[in-house]
Amino acid sequence: MGRFDNQIVIVTGAARGIGAAVAARFAAEGAAVVVADVNEETATRTASSLVAAGGKAVAIPVDMGDVASVRTMVVAAVEWGAGRLDVLVNNAGIALTQSILDATETDWDRQVDINLKGLYFALQAAARVMVSAGQGKIVNISSTSGFVSSSTPEAIYDLTKGGVRQLTVSAAVELGPLGVNVNAVAPGTVATELTRSVLDTQPKWERAQARIPCGRLGEPADIAAAVTFLASSDAEYIHGHTLVVDGGWLAI
Ligand code: NAD
Repeated sequence: MGRFDNQIVIVTGAARGIGAAVAARFAAEGAAVVVADVNEETATRTASSLVAAGGKAVAIPVDMGDVASVRTMVVAAVEWGAGRLDVLVNNAGIALTQSILDATETDWDRQVDINLKGLYFALQAAARVMVSAGQGKIVNISSTSGFVSSSTPEAIYDLTKGGVRQLTVSAAVELGPLGVNVNAVAPGTVATELTRSVLDTQPKWERAQARIPCGRLGEPADIAAAVTFLASSDAEYIHGHTLVVDGGWLAI
């Protein structure tokens, strides 16, 4: 018996990185997983590997920067789940590194559209289905950058992640009485392609690692463990919480 047997779970940005690890953990624990990603080819490969490992999964394309695409994805996911939707993991995100002095309006729009606007409308579309069913769990992916500044200049990224934290609080208050449980996970620095694009030199990578009290960067599986905990029945009484998973980085 898995913790998520017979549950339908959407994970956005699940083609690779943290999202892929989250999808794999849900699939291993019995869920049928929608691998929702803008990169269709990689998403299809990821879903196929989950199926090959004995899980249930499908790839559904979505561009989180396009609200119509987000809504279409949720409709397709619910159809695939024969009307059910138990969990949404709002994970897809991008990190554009640029200083306040250099950022353009286009940089702002791209970052905010994907990390905040698309995430909000995915939450809305999922919540509508969940409220009708009287139950559901939403886990948003924030960041330690939603608490403090990133070490590289990325103020727009930071504000989107602070926004995700606040949305988690407001959504938990509004949707909790309707049966929907909303929480967030705030990863520290996790070894993924996104991190490699920001910590793009060995000295930067080593500096990031040296600052972490537990002595290593996070692994996608560390985040998957926290996300599945918050989506499980063990977290029933946790609402509006952002769980920091950072090896102690924020504690310094
Ligand atoms: P990643 O770049 O490795 O993977 C992101 C995934 O999202 C990719 O599969 C990509 O195709 C998909 N994606 C990108 N734009 C999309 C769009 N418009 N629509 C749909 N899918 C899209 O990133 P990651 O490191 O796995 O990060 C996942 C999440 O965790 C992000 O929200 C990120 O901000 C957050 N996070 C990451 C770290 C870290 O250190 N890696 C730290 C804190 C928070």
